[in-house]
Amino acid sequence: MTHKDLLHILTSEDASTLFRRAEDTLLANRGRHVFIRGLIEFSSICRRNCRYCGLRAQNSNARRYLLKSEQILKAAANAKALGADSIVLQSGEGACDAGWLAELVREISQSLKVAVTLSVGECPPAHYRLWRCNGASRYLLKHETSDPDLYAALHPGYTLNQRISCLRTLAELGYEVGSGFMIGLPGQTMDSIANDILLCKDLNVAMAGVGPFIPHAQTPLKDCATGSAELTLRVISALRLVLPKANLPATTALATLDPTNGHISGLQAGANVLMPNFTPAEFAGSYRIYDNKNRLDMASAALAVEACNRTHSCSLN
Ligand code: SAH
Ligand code: SF4
Repeated sequence: MTHKDLLHILTSEDASTLFRRAEDTLLANRGRHVFIRGLIEFSSICRRNCRYCGLRAQNSNARRYLLKSEQILKAAANAKALGADSIVLQSGEGACDAGWLAELVREISQSLKVAVTLSVGECPPAHYRLWRCNGASRYLLKHETSDPDLYAALHPGYTLNQRISCLRTLAELGYEVGSGFMIGLPGQTMDSIANDILLCKDLNVAMAGVGPFIPHAQTPLKDCATGSAELTLRVISALRLVLPKANLPATTALATLDPTNGHISGLQAGANVLMPNFTPAEFAGSYRIYDNKNRLDMASAALAVEACNRTHSCSLN
């Protein structure tokens, strides 16, 4: 698919025709199963200052926490018992000790016999290797935007090249790699969104998470417009057509814009992953990367899957 084909999909193709084409491609390549990832946001501590994110280090109003190993293990066991296919451990960058995280990954993967995905930002290759050796098999690190100037403007002190180099290192270490990007970032163009899709293809990612940008009141981008849900759905469909076998989540950010139907419309546009949240309730409110963040529970995930006539592993007992 060329850049021009992608622009047509993003701007002109009839939306329902596009979504049907994408869902048909998913069913032909991956079948009806929706994978359920249990998300545990284990720390809100972060060293970076991404201009869009409420967890940025300079946001002195953010409440910072780091869960204890026991709390994380309990949340992971609960997610597994309720039918999660795998566990995702996410945090801000530089939130915890690398050895402690390695031990935790080993315990979760061995005792629960479940795949562990990490999403803890840009780290030294030695840490990526340590976690891989201790049982982490997947890593999520979104490239956020493929426009190098926009990337540099949004991430003070960091470059797109560094981000891509981390993604390549992770792939070399044998991780299944996930990237992704936001839709509607201030200054983002339709051309650069087409390039985002082509970059995911070029990196041959196993997973790609796409969500609308949602402003957070305590960030420099607080007055910027929210990204479009419809454009986000078009991008999910385009990714499905370009990477027929990839795992594509219907993201929480999408459901934040449309709490009733966001997950369902994501699945119907070609997504095949849901990520219900297992962060202990008393901490979840402090993991505020953007305002009014939706929280998906297992029962709602199961209902969304069933509404789309797909299958899942959730147990509602
Ligand atoms: N610290 C890690 C993982 C946690 S942040 C990292 O940055 O990779 C997870 C994701 O939240 C980011 O990749 C980003 O795409 C998303 N995010 C952050 N702020 C957001 C906002 N204001 N609107 C929508 N998504 C946002
Ligand atoms: Fe930190 Fe991730 Fe938020 Fe950036 S997006 S400030 S790295 S939590």
